[in-house]
Amino acid sequence: MPALAGADDSKEQVRSRADLVEVVREHVRLRQVGNQFLGLCPFHQENTPSFRVTPQTQTWHCFGCGKGGDVFSFVELAEKTDFRGALEMLAERTGVELRQEAPQAKERSQQRKRIIELNSFAAKFYEYVLHSTPTGEPGRELLARRGVSTETAQRFGLGFAPAGGTSLAQFLRSRKRSVADATAARLVRDGQDFFRNRLIVPIRDERGQVVAFVGRTVADDPRKYVNSPDTAAYSKGRVLFALDLAKEGIGGKGHAVLVEGQFDVIVAHQYGVTNAIATSGTALTEDQVRLLKRFTDEVVLAFDGDSAGKQAAFRAIEQHAAGGIHTRVLNLGGAKDPDEFLRAGGDWEKAVREAPPEWEFWIRESIQGLNPTRPRDLELALERVYPVLAKIPDPAVREAYRVKAADLLGIEARLMTRPLKTARKAPDREAAPVAQEAPPRQALGAKLSIGQHLLSVLAVRPEAIERVRSQVQPEHFSEDDRRTYHRMLETFTGGGLVELQSRLESFEEHEQELIRRAWASPPPRVDDEYVDGLASKVRLEAMQSELRGVNRRLSEAEQRGDRDQVALLVTENRRLALTVERLKSEKGN
Ligand SMILES: [Zn+2]
Repeated sequence: MPALAGADDSKEQVRSRADLVEVVREHVRLRQVGNQFLGLCPFHQENTPSFRVTPQTQTWHCFGCGKGGDVFSFVELAEKTDFRGALEMLAERTGVELRQEAPQAKERSQQRKRIIELNSFAAKFYEYVLHSTPTGEPGRELLARRGVSTETAQRFGLGFAPAGGTSLAQFLRSRKRSVADATAARLVRDGQDFFRNRLIVPIRDERGQVVAFVGRTVADDPRKYVNSPDTAAYSKGRVLFALDLAKEGIGGKGHAVLVEGQFDVIVAHQYGVTNAIATSGTALTEDQVRLLKRFTDEVVLAFDGDSAGKQAAFRAIEQHAAGGIHTRVLNLGGAKDPDEFLRAGGDWEKAVREAPPEWEFWIRESIQGLNPTRPRDLELALERVYPVLAKIPDPAVREAYRVKAADLLGIEARLMTRPLKTARKAPDREAAPVAQEAPPRQALGAKLSIGQHLLSVLAVRPEAIERVRSQVQPEHFSEDDRRTYHRMLETFTGGGLVELQSRLESFEEHEQELIRRAWASPPPRVDDEYVDGLASKVRLEAMQSELRGVNRRLSEAEQRGDRDQVALLVTENRRLALTVERLKSEKGN
């Protein structure tokens, strides 16, 4: 923990003095069983105790939700704080004095305090301007236009930065505030106000401290939003907007709602969605996911319904999954964003209840518009679904979604056997759209015989069976392929592809493999011309093989001096040789 100098020493001192059982007892009623203590887990809903504390090792573990650790992790989770917070609480409790911070860190932490203090002061100025001066009129108009009530504005501490350019700077000077601090806080730059003629939204950390501001234009400024740059008190990627206000709602509802922008959050809270939060001026970061994890294990994504919103949802799903948070994706119906949905009187609770889990959403999205009963579409659908399955970290969960995906595609789960590349890596922020993530299509390997090639075509295009039947005799296939061909013929007479899917189990292992492989990676072409070419090749191969057999028997008969047999075989040889020549001269052979 580099955040605190000397933390390791203090950590061990605190650990040795803190009694885990005693600490846990403040949150959980514990019962001693043997040399352990049992209780109801404070981190998940349960009726039978699966939460255990082992005093000997000073560790705890819940067999229900899998959480566990030492006294620090318990306090972090129970008090919804980070390691530093837990260390401070336990240090105070055990009377351990935390060693002085290094001078640099100390200076930074003091600057942080000064910036936060100054920010709160500035926030009050902006708020006063918005509500109580004629200068604030454009801000009030904007809020009226967006339907934000005064009560909501006050809850979020919204304000207005005058257009003049020195109003805040002058105000701070008149109150004897340090210009250096105001500059460090990025409220003032070269003696001028940083925010001008903008509605001001204070950004507070999870403890409610004003760490930065966002200014939204009230004019036709092409820069719609201006964010405070990072300071000693603020790091964009580490703060979640409105988490301080949403904490309680998140705890009560058991999940957080992540929306795309600050105004979506503000409107959501006004409509009673008090667990809504957003990122601020950045795409979601790992740090934000980690921060959120302290408050919940489930996040409902309520992004815009357009394709950019969907892409953002896909990224958020991956990032949350990497951080151990489950997501579900809200369906806004026809509304373009949560704001519009709520204003139109949409039933939020119902939408949340019906929001599908992340992977189901992603699988459904990736096959949307495809009709999997059509082989071409099925092919495309599979190419899109496999990469989604590969993203699911837990093998058991992945398996469940494989079954689900097969169900959605109307095929048997058993058929979805393409190996998944599940190398765990940090989610790629520049992830390509789903369709482009599909692996390159595999052409059928050279290992397949011509007969197997033809059978593969039939597996994805059963309609071609009549065409094949009119050109190829079953005996033209090799013995193995013939059995498969017969079985396919029989199946297709019973009802095409659907029948093939439902009866595949009765096929032999190698046949199943051939057919599944054809479905997962169809032949490059399946049109009539291609079918005719393959049929002709199958016949050619059959004839060539027969000709070789005749020639062998012919030489045997000659050696034996069996003239009758020789005469018969010579005729046969001519007939076959002619046929082979004719087939060879046919297009493509
Ligand atoms: Zn638990």
